[in-house]
Amino acid sequence: EAKKLGRNRFQFFQASMQLDTTTRLALMNDLREAIAQQQFELYYQPIINLDTQEILKAEALIRWNHPANGLINPSEFIALAEETGLIEEIGAWVFHQVLHDIKHIHAQYSPDFQVSVNVSPKQFIRPERLLAWKTAIVNAGVAGRHICIEITEGLLLQPSLSVVNTISALRDFGIQFSIDDFGTGYSALAYLNKFDIEYVKIDRSFTHNLQANNQDAILCEAITSMAHKLGMTVVAEGIETEAQARMLSSFECDYGQGYLISKPKSFADFMQFLFEHQKM
Ligand code: C2E
Ligand code: MG
Ligand code: MG
Ligand code: MG
Repeated sequence: EAKKLGRNRFQFFQASMQLDTTTRLALMNDLREAIAQQQFELYYQPIINLDTQEILKAEALIRWNHPANGLINPSEFIALAEETGLIEEIGAWVFHQVLHDIKHIHAQYSPDFQVSVNVSPKQFIRPERLLAWKTAIVNAGVAGRHICIEITEGLLLQPSLSVVNTISALRDFGIQFSIDDFGTGYSALAYLNKFDIEYVKIDRSFTHNLQANNQDAILCEAITSMAHKLGMTVVAEGIETEAQARMLSSFECDYGQGYLISKPKSFADFMQFLFEHQKM
């Protein structure tokens, strides 16, 4: 029963940001505790080259191992973390963990492997912490190109000078950038391209309903073709069926991610998946 109540609390939060003060405070305390007690875990989802079937990329996705409520997905706590500023601490933990895991992947699987990290717009407000990643990367003995930062188009809509400078400094260091959930906002690819973005990730709401010649198919093909003309690489999110993978492949979409290839997995299970995939 307590478990159920806990769950409801999170779902309630997700549904409405206008929480009563008590619930809000309780949630904030839980989240602070989570940071102090290291209750977070990174799951990994492979990103496959749709042409060669090679896997040299993955996205890191945070999970919260709540002592009473079990595994909690980011959709249930990232918004609160952003609103309270706790996202800075969480973001720093994510990055630290990613570097730790990349070293392992490089040693055990491939030295060319790249991990994508989701970064909230709020993390750009005080860019010193993001800029400090450069030193951490060097100290970890990996290179900028082994990290890809996923941002949403909202960050680039009316970017402050600080956002522009931070992205450009990280780009100069070799870190790549990806526009996540592309198609759900209102920006044009040509506009986004002026920030020297490497990848565009087509949102899963478009891959979900792909049918030959339907509107989403036309959209996916058009995004891919335009991205290529602008020198960008395309990743399709949320691929669940062979038919979707084949269709995206026929549009010359470069990479795919989704349950068809693998659900996000704990690091140990993900490594196991990589080794098995390699044998195929
Ligand atoms: P996202 O970056 O767009 O990540 C993709 C989401 O789609 C993930 O949800 C993933 O589990 C899910 N997904 C992948 N393949 C499929 C599929 O084939 N079908 C369906 N239905 N879903 C699929 P998840 O892990 O719950 O993450 C949700 C969002 O939370 C992420 O969306 C990202 O915006 C945010 N997030 C995750 N980790 C972090 C983090 O470390 N920091 C920040 N700031 N945000 C994060
Ligand atoms: Mg993402
Ligand atoms: Mg995404
Ligand atoms: Mg998405």
